[in-house]
Amino acid sequence: MTEITCKLLVIGAGPGGYVCAIRAGQLGIDTVIVESTKLGGSCLNVGCIPSKAMIHVAEEFEKAADAAAGRTPFGLTAGAPALDLKQAVAWKDGIVQRLNNGVAALLRKAKVKIVHGRARFRDGKTVTVETETGPRTIKAEAIVIATGSAPVELPFLPFGGNVISSTGALALTELPKRLVVVGGGYIGLELGTAFARMGSKVMVVEAMDRILPLYDTELTGPVSKRLTALGVEVLTGAKALGPTAKGDGLRIETADGKERSLPADKVLVTVGRRPVTDGLGLENLVLDMDGRFIRIGERCETSMRGIYAIGDVTGEPMLAHRAMAQGEMVAEIVAGLPRAWDKRGIAAICFTDPEIVSVGLSPEEAKRAGHELKIGQFPFAANGRAMTRHGEAGFVRVVAQAGSELVLGIQAVGQGVSELSAAFGLAIEMGATLQDIAGTIHAHPTLGEAFPEAAMKALGHALHI
Ligand code: FAD
Ligand code: NAD
Repeated sequence: MTEITCKLLVIGAGPGGYVCAIRAGQLGIDTVIVESTKLGGSCLNVGCIPSKAMIHVAEEFEKAADAAAGRTPFGLTAGAPALDLKQAVAWKDGIVQRLNNGVAALLRKAKVKIVHGRARFRDGKTVTVETETGPRTIKAEAIVIATGSAPVELPFLPFGGNVISSTGALALTELPKRLVVVGGGYIGLELGTAFARMGSKVMVVEAMDRILPLYDTELTGPVSKRLTALGVEVLTGAKALGPTAKGDGLRIETADGKERSLPADKVLVTVGRRPVTDGLGLENLVLDMDGRFIRIGERCETSMRGIYAIGDVTGEPMLAHRAMAQGEMVAEIVAGLPRAWDKRGIAAICFTDPEIVSVGLSPEEAKRAGHELKIGQFPFAANGRAMTRHGEAGFVRVVAQAGSELVLGIQAVGQGVSELSAAFGLAIEMGATLQDIAGTIHAHPTLGEAFPEAAMKALGHALHI
């Protein structure tokens, strides 16, 4: 068995792992990364990137369909559109392939050694990897577990046949006429909306009493309205029971306790993600856990010296940019730099239609934390750019501490607001006050102008409302 020794071993080449390895390589650390499938992890191969590609396809198709139906208010007409989903999926796969190659090139540039295979801990310093050419042992001074997450499978609704996970949904080459989505969270609503825009009849079954329970109802209101307009039926307080006897749909228990069968060509199950630790040999380590997730401290250290964990395997928020930031930090810690997790916010975006963004504290969270608040909200209905894009639904909201006027949180819902997350994140991270935001000139006409307007509203002198 060939043996490799290195200073840093990273297990898993998702956004957490590959960023950690690249930064470590840049810092001159002798680094090895092990990946059992494809470079880029869930995010690049079956998550963020492919889902946003298919969301784009759906948006373009809907625009064409609206023009064909004479539904645009500005007089655009066109012939009836047709969508070749096979070609759309091939286009999406091409983007993924380009990014896979890009990650490989970046790792090579940083002089990181890539080992393909499944890693398993033998002890806290030794890992065995089953590679195509046989087992290899890797000994390392520091090890980062970045093995990510996988879809939760419901025992009474296992994946297979018509029951699919997000990975299956992103590979469909034929549009399901009727799609039932179990779970009205991030994935269910992002993909459910996209399929509805492409023409599927979509139903969403959500166990809680509302969709996207992570966000407040003011933020989710415009999303619910749009789902209704798209003909999506949302059943809240409903439980999935299992497939129908013929396998042509889903049996559910509705909020009033009645059983109902929902006909479906595909049932998409999106009820959360679980950490990937099976086969990793965790039984050979002594790690403190948070349920099934690995417990970490403010330096992403686990309970064993020299072993770190980053990304989805450490629990919520399961976001690619969090995993990347943790990866970058851990590489610097291994290089001996003084780093700890000191971020004031992690932007969360839901790519529904309209999109939702939230950074820092919501009004409710800020109140619970004991703050006296000043809140300003500015509607896109009063923003010129939003009107010219035919996207007046939604608003920007700024939550600040009364007195100091320090901004504690920023939220928005509206078409295209995902791109505002950069400005929101910077404001929170830099400790901006309401005056800082109100006093920054924002170019006209842009959606971003709603941001200083919301800050001015909180200060009591919004200009355009
Ligand atoms: P992963 O990306 O899961 O990577 C882990 C890697 O480790 C995998 O490649 C796996 O093969 C490998 N691995 C596991 N075990 C082993 C082993 N024993 N040996 C070797 N290799 C191993 N997040 C966002 O921020 N924005 C989005 O828009 C977004 N959209 C999403 C859409 C969908 C449909 C899904 C499913 C997820 C989405 N996410 C999004 C979440 C995002 O994908 C994850 O937060 C992110 O991928 C986590 O990165 P990670 O590095 O922790 O793990
Ligand atoms: P989620 O936690 O966002 O949503 C799951 C939903 O399923 C919840 O609303 C929950 O109440 C519901 N649910 C749970 N069990 C159920 C049941 N038996 N029947 C009906 N409903 C049930 O999970 P997800 O949508 O699977 O996404 C997983 C993770 O991926 C998220 O935590 C998120 O961090 C990440 N993600 C992020 C993005 C993004 O950043 N835009 C996009 C997709 C996924």
